[in-house]
Amino acid sequence: MSAPSSVTIVGASLAGLRAAETLRRDGFDGPVALIGDELHEPYDRPPLSKQVLAGNWAPDRIALTPSDKLADLDLDLRLGARATGFDLADRTLRLAGGETLEVDAVLIATGARCRTLGPPREGVHVLRSLDDCLALRADFDAAPDRVVVVGAGFIGAEVAATARTRGLDVAMVEALDAPLSRVLGPEMGEVCAAVHRDHGIDLRTGVGVEGFDGAGRVERVRLTDGSAIDASVVVVGIGVVPNTEWLEGSGLALDNGVVCDAAGLAAPGVAAAGDVARWPNRRFGYSMRVEHWDNAAAQGAHSARALLGADDPYEPVPWFWSDQYDRKIQLAGHVRPDDEVKVVTGSVAERRFAALYGRGGRLVGALGFNRPRHVMRYRAMIEQGAAFEEAVAAEV
Ligand code: FAD
Ligand code: NAP
Repeated sequence: MSAPSSVTIVGASLAGLRAAETLRRDGFDGPVALIGDELHEPYDRPPLSKQVLAGNWAPDRIALTPSDKLADLDLDLRLGARATGFDLADRTLRLAGGETLEVDAVLIATGARCRTLGPPREGVHVLRSLDDCLALRADFDAAPDRVVVVGAGFIGAEVAATARTRGLDVAMVEALDAPLSRVLGPEMGEVCAAVHRDHGIDLRTGVGVEGFDGAGRVERVRLTDGSAIDASVVVVGIGVVPNTEWLEGSGLALDNGVVCDAAGLAAPGVAAAGDVARWPNRRFGYSMRVEHWDNAAAQGAHSARALLGADDPYEPVPWFWSDQYDRKIQLAGHVRPDDEVKVVTGSVAERRFAALYGRGGRLVGALGFNRPRHVMRYRAMIEQGAAFEEAVAAEV
């Protein structure tokens, strides 16, 4: 495959920026456009539910790269520009406002956006962007009587922890039986539930949200069991949907994400990366879409190389961290709720432990609560294809 004449990256966040950096690092000196619909230069999202929301960091600390380094990449950087359509056969990209660009290679890194509950209402927030974070922080600064968090996934658990650490009264509502149970499994989800209850969160599980009451601004959250919780601020964290609407009718396959091959190509000369990309991870033997930082960075780089002709498969052991109160929770691997789980070191009661997940006799996941060294060592064992019992017995 010959090198492309130009590369157009759509989505100017983590995966898109890492792709642009990789193209330059690997010697591509043709035109590279980086197109993003936000007005800010690429910034990091993890601090939005942690340090920035807590009020400990100013927003200017979260740039993914300093402006001068960004300029050194010599990109055609278009901020505040939304892609509205792509035609694979014609190689044209349409932007909001009517401009049409002729493109050669394309890298899709448009990420995901929050699911919402009902129409917009004052006092009801989602959290994805810096602007979302600053709006929520302003509501926290006003010392609300009670924050209600809907959904105890990553956003819910981290926002609840940050709000509580700020001294706010917090209730959290989760439809499943425990927080984070779809990613950590039910047993470890219960450990998370205990952590939040110990910190004074009013955690309601196994119950959904019917709707919000209030004349204008939200005043109450109605639950499906007939009860209600008074609320001055609501944060909805009920998952995300990949941003693929602009690709409908483009000629690319879409299925809860942009469907890619093992190397990250969605079509010849078109790649995807990050939260928006679905690809067959051969290490696990099935197709996945990963919504975590490390994957967006690594896949951005990998997919950029795929556009330059590399054809090695992308087969990472995914990894993420989540900071809640004084706990650093990390998970390496890809866990399913019915995987076997064994605590292998430390103490669950003290909330400092490592647990392993097994499926079909293989090690598929490692969870650590304040055990970073263990998680990384078990991650290497997952990479090596270790048997579950072998990992459980290993001295790490
Ligand atoms: P995104 O970061 O979603 O970026 C996509 C970009 O494309 C956005 O700027 C979007 O506006 C833009 N875009 C969308 N559609 C278009 C269009 N049509 N045209 C132009 N531009 C478009 N992960 C962890 O592992 N650990 C953490 O602690 C952690 N904390 C997080 C905290 C928060 C509050 C959030 C929101 C996420 C967190 N994550 C964390 C997840 C991590 O940040 C994401 O996985 C990562 O940002 C994905 O990067 P991305 O580049 O694929 O997509
Ligand atoms: P998430 O982790 O998918 O969790 C959403 C949770 O809300 C799930 O437990 C879900 O249960 C529940 N839910 C869904 N509909 C509900 C409803 N109507 N009422 C009550 N609960 C409901 O998504 P998220 O927490 O919103 O996070 C958004 C994105 O940011 C994700 O991509 C996430 O990975 C990313 N993020 C990551 C981190 C991190 O890695 N540390 C931190 C913050 C954000 P079901 O599973 O049953 O639908």
